[in-house]
Amino acid sequence: MTHETRTAFPARAARTGAHRVVVVGGGVLGASTAAHLARAGARVDLVTEAEVASGASGRSLSWLNSAGARSDAYHRLRTVGIDRYRTFATRTGLDDRVRFDGGLTWAAPGESHRERHAHELSTGYDSVWLARDEVAAWAPGVDVTAVAEEGAVFNPGEGWVDLPLLVDALLEQVRAAGGEVHTGTGRARPVLTGGRANGVATASGRAFTADAVVWATGPWVPRDLAELGVHLPQSSPVSLLLETQRVEHPLRAVLNTPRVAIRPTPRGTFVLDSGWSEQEVVVHDDGDHEVRGSTVAGLLDEASRVLVGNPRLEAVRRGVGPKPVPGDGEPVVGELREVPGLHVLFTHSGATLGLVLGEFTAREVLEERVPLLEPFRPERFTTAR
Ligand SMILES: Cc1cc2nc3c(=O)[nH]c(=O)nc-3n(C[C@H](O)[C@H](O)[C@H](O)COP(=O)(O)OP(=O)(O)OC[C@H]3O[C@@H](n4cnc5c(N)ncnc54)[C@H](O)[C@@H]3O)c2cc1C
Repeated sequence: MTHETRTAFPARAARTGAHRVVVVGGGVLGASTAAHLARAGARVDLVTEAEVASGASGRSLSWLNSAGARSDAYHRLRTVGIDRYRTFATRTGLDDRVRFDGGLTWAAPGESHRERHAHELSTGYDSVWLARDEVAAWAPGVDVTAVAEEGAVFNPGEGWVDLPLLVDALLEQVRAAGGEVHTGTGRARPVLTGGRANGVATASGRAFTADAVVWATGPWVPRDLAELGVHLPQSSPVSLLLETQRVEHPLRAVLNTPRVAIRPTPRGTFVLDSGWSEQEVVVHDDGDHEVRGSTVAGLLDEASRVLVGNPRLEAVRRGVGPKPVPGDGEPVVGELREVPGLHVLFTHSGATLGLVLGEFTAREVLEERVPLLEPFRPERFTTAR
């Protein structure tokens, strides 16, 4: 299928003096920011150490949601984030990589999702309580014998995105608007003049000058900023995502069950993760990760158990590495007070927030502060050394 992505969001002239911008990080947040900047008329260089989507964005469950309870500000940002995906899918025709087939969840034995459902209703989040025998009609593909006896919550407005394909589409927009994408540069570091960020130097010896720098290096943001004396607390765990072989199967929704989360992919495969399997990843002293065969087999078994027909699943790909999670769980977004000209993006749920944070960051770099981002500023916990 040919997609027309170039004219879907026409470029326009930048409205401020900060015309030249370097974006560091080729994950969804860097790609999205670069695309929004380029569309707005900025001269953009995106710099990333290896291939694009080689970090968390290449091994993400990427469930688009604002399910459960969180701060009002974060809930609002996430629902705006989901809305941007609907627009993106409609305008670009890329609805094979952004899907809204809903999300289904049920509680572990001894727990209940009744309160969660009541909370979701209270915030206007689309949330439907299903008895076991109603599940098949709303979310085909689920083995209802695995569903909690009390029933399940279905969120019809949720969906998923394939981030590597989204990153490719966004970077195509960057190039179409005259921007450049530099891969395999090795690690980049910000260059400061008089305390202000005005460029980037890479391990491969390249230098980029700019009016502003956007730092979107995923779980490595705290490490990179620590070198500038800016300390962001984080609780990024090492995570594990498995991708199965192709399976002919009716499941279309995202499943969040007590022992496994599952989403379909555009390739006809499933990706899987869970809290318990993440905790079983062995992290060696040298930073290497080891995934036990029993963990892989256990996660595949859990997935098979909740899918109708209990298909035999194999893992054809595994993604292991840190998942970006700020210390208080909420996004960290904006220009650093300690280093003017350096805008940071560090967040969990970066799939849900990918488009909107790119849009808002581009606006902050080129035009003005965005009120919806005020609760998420880095200075809520940074301290300059
Ligand atoms: C297993 C898992 C499940 C998840 N589930 C969900 C979910 O269901 N819903 C949701 O919304 N989100 C989810 N997330 C979170 C989401 O995927 C991430 O928040 C998002 O992908 C982060 O994107 P990013 O662009 O910030 O970072 P990344 O994708 O990590 O990209 C950063 C890039 O920067 C490069 N880089 C790093 N340091 C440097 C440097 N110094 N110089 C140059 N390049 C550098 C890296 O190589 C990498 O390519 C999940 C993540 C994981 C891992």
